[in-house]
Amino acid sequence: MSHKSDIEIAREAAKRPIQEIGAKLGIGAEDLLPYGHDKAKVSQPFIDSLAGRPDGKLILVTAINPTPAGEGKTTTTVGLGDGLNRIGKKAAICIREASLGPCFGMKGGAAGGGYAQVVPMEEMNLHFTGDFHAITSAHNLLAAMIDNHIYWGNALGIDQRRVVWRRVMDMNDRALRDIVTSLGGVPNGFPRQTGFDITVASEVMAILCLASDLADLERRLGDIIVAYTRDKAPITCRDIGADGAMAVLLKDAIQPNLVQTLENNPAFVHGGPFANIAHGCNSVMATKTALKLADYVVTEAGFGADLGAEKFMNIKCRKAGIAPSAVVVVATVRAMKMNGGVAKADLGAENVEAVKAGCPNLGRHIENVKSFGVPVVVAINHFSGDTEAEIAAVEEYVAGLGSEAVLCKHWALGSEGTEELARRVVALAESGQAEFEPLYPDDMGLFEKIETIAKRIYRADSVVADAKVLSQLREWEAAGFGSLPVCMAKTQYSFTTDPTVRGAPEGFPIPIREVRLSAGAGFVVAICGEIMTMPGLPSAPAAESIRLNADGFVEGLF
Ligand code: ADP
Ligand code: MG
Repeated sequence: MSHKSDIEIAREAAKRPIQEIGAKLGIGAEDLLPYGHDKAKVSQPFIDSLAGRPDGKLILVTAINPTPAGEGKTTTTVGLGDGLNRIGKKAAICIREASLGPCFGMKGGAAGGGYAQVVPMEEMNLHFTGDFHAITSAHNLLAAMIDNHIYWGNALGIDQRRVVWRRVMDMNDRALRDIVTSLGGVPNGFPRQTGFDITVASEVMAILCLASDLADLERRLGDIIVAYTRDKAPITCRDIGADGAMAVLLKDAIQPNLVQTLENNPAFVHGGPFANIAHGCNSVMATKTALKLADYVVTEAGFGADLGAEKFMNIKCRKAGIAPSAVVVVATVRAMKMNGGVAKADLGAENVEAVKAGCPNLGRHIENVKSFGVPVVVAINHFSGDTEAEIAAVEEYVAGLGSEAVLCKHWALGSEGTEELARRVVALAESGQAEFEPLYPDDMGLFEKIETIAKRIYRADSVVADAKVLSQLREWEAAGFGSLPVCMAKTQYSFTTDPTVRGAPEGFPIPIREVRLSAGAGFVVAICGEIMTMPGLPSAPAAESIRLNADGFVEGLF
């Protein structure tokens, strides 16, 4: 058992040149656009050339409701990808890129952990290939052009109180949440209230991740609603004339990034939309490219299965025309204990009864995932303090539901620790059991879609929305947006909208506070409770302990 930090393990990786990793998937060196020695983008002509090929099997990794104990979805995604390669399968993983905000705020990277990581992890967690810079620039170009349009006479008749396009930055900075711009007199324009969101909350990020190609990207950018006139007619990005230039800024960012795991297996790391006001999955371009190149593609959805897997199925798979062949639900003994009422400080002590008491949360997620018509296996992500009796309690509970839980030790052992999970996943994926179907049809009403998710996935008994929300949804239906899927923005910690309610509650109301239209991304966001789109830093930010050592290596980044 290692006690090395994630970054120490990552630094010791025996990385191979990126051309060798590309070769494992049949990508020639001429089709890779290298960013240094260990990162590359995959060229568009190569991606286009794959169109006629059959797809591999898609495996989704999701989890129970997150707890402060940590679940390890990314770690398990990487571990399973390595495990599949270890048993002789051609497998690739697809995960999201990291935001700088959490890197310098709370500890916890986006590259996995222990001996199941993607490298180069420092770069992946920092500037990487510049995609987030490009997204930030494209987003803010549009913001600048909106204010510029108003400044030069406002021919479109934008109501300055109804500009809904804010600015973004890839940093946690609460000081910029609500601000007044254009102070300083006539040459600076018309003062108005606005604010910054973090880059991963940008609709441009969601668009980049759902676009099927550059033309689709530009069309979706054009569809973004940026403001309304006094009589509430929408003004789009296309009206402002920013869509072409934004697509130019994004032309490289939309190409998937290829890197490798610690075990030199291919990993696509691309896109990183928020999992609350957006859909929380890596890019459709990367996933579809990987499916053409590998027999098994393991990907992750953000948060627990109630949000992440639901959106993966109802938004990403529906829009991209892809379907999972099997789903892995990650659970930990520690999180089961927390769901069973144990405080974080007491997680060290064995408590089989608490594990049993917490298991219904896992059970609910298993049932929910199965309701999409896909087979499930539970991965118990092993932590060193877990006892045999506690592990057995989880295994027995899952067996009682007619599913299987597999103990995984990838964090400590790498692919050796996921061999059994990999075999099980292959068996499920090849069983032909999967008959994927989204939860609701396109033509269901928007409010009925929200109700369907709330009742079938969360097990709420009602959705509460005031007349303003209902009439807004009806207006969008009348304007032709009724066929869009719904993107739920809810706490990830509970099936309810109260983050302190753990376990598997039922029969509660889901209040909808607000609805937003992401016309470019192509979904309607239903906001249940407070949703933070510009996080703040904690009292002791991780940034305080990050530095370069005498050899020029990054210290303190995880
Ligand atoms: P998620 O994707 O679910 O947010 P991650 O895979 O990123 O979670 O893991 C979160 C943190 O927990 C990482 O720092 C990782 O190193 C740590 N972690 C994951 N699995 C284990 C484990 N089995 N033992 C100890 N730490 C772990
Ligand atoms: Mg993750």
